[in-house]
Amino acid sequence: MAGKTAYTKKELEDLRKRLTEERAELQVQLTTIEETSFATSQSDMSGEVSFDEENADAGTFTFERERDLSIENNVRDLMGKIDRALTRMDEGTYGTCARCGKPIEKARLKVLPYVDLCIKDAQAQARR
Ligand SMILES: [Zn+2]
Repeated sequence: MAGKTAYTKKELEDLRKRLTEERAELQVQLTTIEETSFATSQSDMSGEVSFDEENADAGTFTFERERDLSIENNVRDLMGKIDRALTRMDEGTYGTCARCGKPIEKARLKVLPYVDLCIKDAQAQARR
């Protein structure tokens, strides 16, 4: 095995495919959220959003909007991470911890292919 990242071309291609697919899904989610936000008064647009009729009062409306915003932020955040992961693949630095420069655990990347920190550094960051 050559280089710091122990990934074969095949593995990288699979990961890239997963990241690209996930990004496309997030894009769809984002579009749905945006469309829902524009047509806030009626939420029977796509069947995507089905809420309890009984709770459809003003308070729920605010809650829904807030919920949408927080989902939207999460989706945007995740898309940014995926974009950066794809960039790192192009640069050949994918799979290397952005903080300590050591290889990121393969099992970790299998679950979260867009992370750029090893477990140790991710935990250290979460604690702060
Ligand atoms: Zn690290």
